[in-house]
Formats: sequence, C-alpha cells, structure tokens
Amino acid sequence: MLLLGMQHIARGASIVAVRVWPSKDYTRLTIESDGEIKARPFFIAEPPRLVVDIEGIDLIPALRELVAKVTSDDPNISGIRAGQNTPGVVRLVIDLKQPILPQVFSLPPVAAYQYRLVLDLYPTQVADPLEALIAERLAGKPKSQPRLDKTLTPESAPAPAPASASAPVSAAVPDPLGELIARQTGRPASSTAKPPMASTSAVSKPAPDMPLPPAGKTDRLIIVALDPGHGGEDPGAIGPGGTREKDVVLQIALLLADRINQQPNMRAYLTRDADFFVPLHIRVQKARRVSADLFISIHADAFFTDRPQGASVFALSDKGASSSAARWMADKENSADLVGGVNAKVKDAQVQKAMLDMSTTAQINDSLKLGSAMLGEIGAVGKLHKPRVEQAGFAVLKAPDIPSVLVETAFISNPDEEAKLRSETYQVQLADALMRGVNRYFARNPPLARNRPV
Ligand SMILES: [Zn+2]
Repeated sequence: MLLLGMQHIARGASIVAVRVWPSKDYTRLTIESDGEIKARPFFIAEPPRLVVDIEGIDLIPALRELVAKVTSDDPNISGIRAGQNTPGVVRLVIDLKQPILPQVFSLPPVAAYQYRLVLDLYPTQVADPLEALIAERLAGKPKSQPRLDKTLTPESAPAPAPASASAPVSAAVPDPLGELIARQTGRPASSTAKPPMASTSAVSKPAPDMPLPPAGKTDRLIIVALDPGHGGEDPGAIGPGGTREKDVVLQIALLLADRINQQPNMRAYLTRDADFFVPLHIRVQKARRVSADLFISIHADAFFTDRPQGASVFALSDKGASSSAARWMADKENSADLVGGVNAKVKDAQVQKAMLDMSTTAQINDSLKLGSAMLGEIGAVGKLHKPRVEQAGFAVLKAPDIPSVLVETAFISNPDEEAKLRSETYQVQLADALMRGVNRYFARNPPLARNRPV
C-alpha cells in the first residue's frame, strides 16, 4: 500500500536542454523540460540582477550547464548562479550588465521541442538604429559586416497593465525620426525628445569623401531592410545534409548588406545580424522604425520530397494567395513564431495596435515590381521555381508603407541546392543578383522624396 502510494507521488519535470541566445536586442535563456515547470521571477535593481525560482525541479547538471553557457561577450548577462533554494525549488540568479526588463513565459511542445520556459532579457536603454546608420554615413566607411542592429524592446507604448514580472513589459523607445528632425531644425520634435548629441549634430553636412549622387537621383539616404529569416530557437528548414536555413540566409544577407553599403547613398539595415530569434511583427516594426525604402526577407524553401528546386519571390496578397503552393509557403513561414517562441500576450497587444487597416494596395504594386526585377536577376544565376512573383499573406511583408518581398533562394530540401546554398561561390552570385535587382528596381522606380531629413 505504502509502496503503491510512493509510486504515485508526482515526479518533477526533467530538464532535457538549456540554451542561451545572446544578442544586442535581448538575451534569451531557454530551459526545455519533459513536463511543465513553473517560474517566479523578480528583479533586483542594485546591482541589477534577475532572480528566478523554478519550482518542480532539482539542481541537476543541466542547470549547471546553463551557468557555463553564458559567455563574457553576452551584451546583457555577466553571469548566472544556480542553487537549491528549498527541496524542489532551484534559484537562478542572473547577474546583469545593465538594467533589463524581463519577459518570462512558457511554451507548450511544438515541432522538435518539448515544454519550454523562456526568459527574455530586454535592456531598458534602447539604442537608436537610425542613428547608427547615419553615424556610418558620416564616417563614410561602411563596415564589411554591419552591426547596426540595435536593441528593440517589444513596443514603445505601454503594454496593458503588467501584473507581474512575467507579464508584458515595455521600455522607453526614442522616436528616431523625431530626434533627427529636432537636430536638423534645432527645435524639439516633441516634448519628450532627448537633447541633441554633439557627435551627431552635423547630420546635414555631407562627409567629404561621400560620392556625389548621380544627377537626377535622390540625394537622401536609401535604407534597404534585409530580413534573414528564422534564427535562435527557430532553425527554419533543415536540409538532408543538416544545413539550417537560419544560417545560410544570414550569410547571404550579410553578403548582400556589404554590396548595398558599397552603393552611393544606400545603407543596409539588418533585422537580425546574428543567431537569435526575431518575431515576425518585430521584423516589420524594425524596418518601419528606420523608415526603410525596401524590405527583403531572405529564406530557403523546403518540401517533403527532395525533387522541387529553384528560387521563388513572393509579395503580399490582400485577396488570397495566387496559388495553393504560395498559401502553403505563407502558412509555413508564418508559423515561425510558434517555433521561435513569442510571448503571446505581448504579441497580441502589439499586433492589435499595428495599423493593419492601412491599405496595402500601392505597397503590393511596388512589391510586385521589385519582385520581378529580382526574379529576372536570380534567373540569370540559378534556376527559378516559378517565373513570376507569387502572392500570399506573409506576415512579414505587411508593412503598409514599404515595398516588401520574400525571396526563397532555393530548396534546401533538394540535395543539389542544399550544396549550392552552402557554397560561398553561389552565395556571392546570389547576393550580386539581388543587388542588381534592387538597382534595377530603383532605376525604374526612383525613390520618392520622403519626409525624412536624411
Ligand atoms: Zn523560411
């Protein structure tokens, strides 16, 4: 009787994996377990640290592994300590390099993952991404690998009533355009504008070594947002040889960024420049915050069989997909948030706030032109899966004011194309083709004057 009773005592969850994803945007800690685990986080300001009591587990080697996984170059975490607080409760103390706003949430099993407890640590001080682009322009020497991707907290507006440390959080995000305008005019754009910084007060003066724009073209800075798909917890598609979509698309995006930065008056802005997850709506929000002129999302297809091959380019559709294959692809890419892991409460609030009722008709027309220009160039270096731009409801293409395309560079599920995607030669050819596509688009559709002083 007693033995039987003991067998029924609930067993605590076992930890199957721990992962750390550092980035300038935020650092994510993931604790994956075979059952749900509960966490009680609380923040201590001085010195800044996050304490998390995790119930239902004992201190096991996997948690000590988490301690070892934090590297000294993590922008947000200086170290983790783990200790058995009381039986069945492990206390993690996360020492921080700066004040952060934590988001702690649980995710149910999905794809290859079991239960995940996620700790996202967002810095409270948010750098201005547009400022970084302008600083580079003034310096006149774009870096070979732009590291422009500054911190972005989930949304600048207050989230609805955060009830506990695990509820949605918000941070004060400066308005990049407002500040630039204030600097140029000498007038504050709003009562909340920060005082101008001396180092960036010369925004209107062109740097002496900047090439002059071609006659008749705009002389303002053209910003091309590049969006390497997936990242962090979301590997994207995986090829038969183990190649991960998130890795090859980042490599291609960095090569394309180099080429864009070599164009006069053109700068690349990356929605991610490292291996971390960026939710789909945050990708759109980031591009809008720098008032990007174009948005190019870079992916690699996969199918159940290894036969399909070739590149495709997609634009948004406001009337349904142009084919069932396009709809299938959009559904697949739109599920990235499930695998990558977003805090559903925060996302719902942000997406509701977004201007989803703004018309996208003009955007779609421009996106189709951009897509055709790119398809033409990609077709010169590789196979095309479809000879025309397809359309479907991709969440990442929904910025109403930015021509946006999603490029599926090749089928990573096809062994030949997987090998090409890994080869630097093909990555360079592809980046060159995409660059020519962008230039071809601007040659026919010169960028409009914008209400932006740069
Ligand atoms: Zn993808």
